[in-house]
Amino acid sequence: MGETFAGGNHITGYKELSKDKQIIEMPIPSRVAIPLSQHTGIICEPMVKESQLVRVGTKIGQGQGLISSSVHASISGKVTKITDYNHPVLGVCKAVIIDSDGQDELEPGVGVALARNIKLFSKEQLLEIIKNAGIVGLGGAAFPTQVKLNPPKPVEFLIINGAECEPYLSCDFRIMLERSQDILKGVSVVQQILNVRKVLIGVEDDKQEAIKALRNKIAELKLDFAVVGLKTKYPQGAEKQLIKALLDREVPPGKLPFDVGVVVLNVGTVLAVGEAVFLNKPLYERVVTVTGKILKNPANLKVRLGTRFSELINFCGGIKGQCEKIIMGGPMMGIAQCTDDVPVIKGTSGILLLSKSQTAGFAEQPCIRCGRCVDICPMRMLPYLLSQYGQTGHYQKADGLNVKDCMECGACVYICPAKRRILEHIRLLKTVLK
Ligand code: SF4
Ligand code: SF4
Repeated sequence: MGETFAGGNHITGYKELSKDKQIIEMPIPSRVAIPLSQHTGIICEPMVKESQLVRVGTKIGQGQGLISSSVHASISGKVTKITDYNHPVLGVCKAVIIDSDGQDELEPGVGVALARNIKLFSKEQLLEIIKNAGIVGLGGAAFPTQVKLNPPKPVEFLIINGAECEPYLSCDFRIMLERSQDILKGVSVVQQILNVRKVLIGVEDDKQEAIKALRNKIAELKLDFAVVGLKTKYPQGAEKQLIKALLDREVPPGKLPFDVGVVVLNVGTVLAVGEAVFLNKPLYERVVTVTGKILKNPANLKVRLGTRFSELINFCGGIKGQCEKIIMGGPMMGIAQCTDDVPVIKGTSGILLLSKSQTAGFAEQPCIRCGRCVDICPMRMLPYLLSQYGQTGHYQKADGLNVKDCMECGACVYICPAKRRILEHIRLLKTVLK
């Protein structure tokens, strides 16, 4: 049995809808809307003007301050507008609209294979390449990678997160299978930057093909990385749970992984790091799982950032029946969308379409004190009590219960037989206490 953490549970995956679908490249869209904020931190300043011509990889937004990340053109053509546009996380955000010239012309040097010996590069030089390429965490958090790779104290372990525990999603599985060598090249870069010896790649044990592909490639390249099978359990891919499962170390409340000597990066992020260093490629495209029982042909698509969700859905053959909900990401931690006229951003791991019967609401019942939410909470919190305080307005009573440590994984909501809207009440509590 694979390694794991306390709490959490098995959630029906529905990964079979897309997991055997090879990554295919979507045709270049005729127009993209590239938001100037696709990351945690300060929004970028536009570096282009309306009517300006750009190529694939042209930097169009400059990151500002310490925590920020630049953005690049994903198609070649003309900037037609810089305007507010729908955003899948922020609602609305300033975006650069580019109309394609149909040429798909790359910025000189972008995408050209470089026979770089990274041993000759300093940590600062590698971090600068990553910063210039606009790389952020592709697992969802979108935290700027150059900041994460420069922790304030030395770390001992690098953990690569290949758990992909959210139901329905399979983009990480596909890249581990199809791009294992490129992922490992990125891991070597990150290992050198952090100056760590110990590298663990954690993959849930329902992804045996990915585990095998990575182990074979590691043996072939004579690398000293370990691939560890993890129990398939939600939320195995959360950083703190991954660290507990792999190293039996606990990140204390309010602390970060580097406080226990660890940096965790998603597999997609290290792939992007490898491409930035060895292909001089900024982050202008990513793999997205487009899925759902009501989608005609679920797929894993390599997509240019800024392409609208509606175009991906159409490319997958459209919808059978009626779509009630569109979610960016997975069903547990994803974000519901008001429209399909939103662009793919760096953090778009998936687009999930749900029918009415899959989203049917249930009447909230009184808590029956069954304790299941307590057993399942991976952060060892008291979800029933916190939700009660949030619902009844007894906010101060929750002071000292570390409510901000709730990572909003939704596992307690999933298990609750009374269909309590626990997370809704906890979110309210968190906002009030903040
Ligand atoms: S949503 Fe929060 S309270 Fe509920 S299980 Fe996850 S961490 Fe625990
Ligand atoms: S799982 Fe639901 S019913 Fe059971 S204790 Fe928690 S909130 Fe109450």
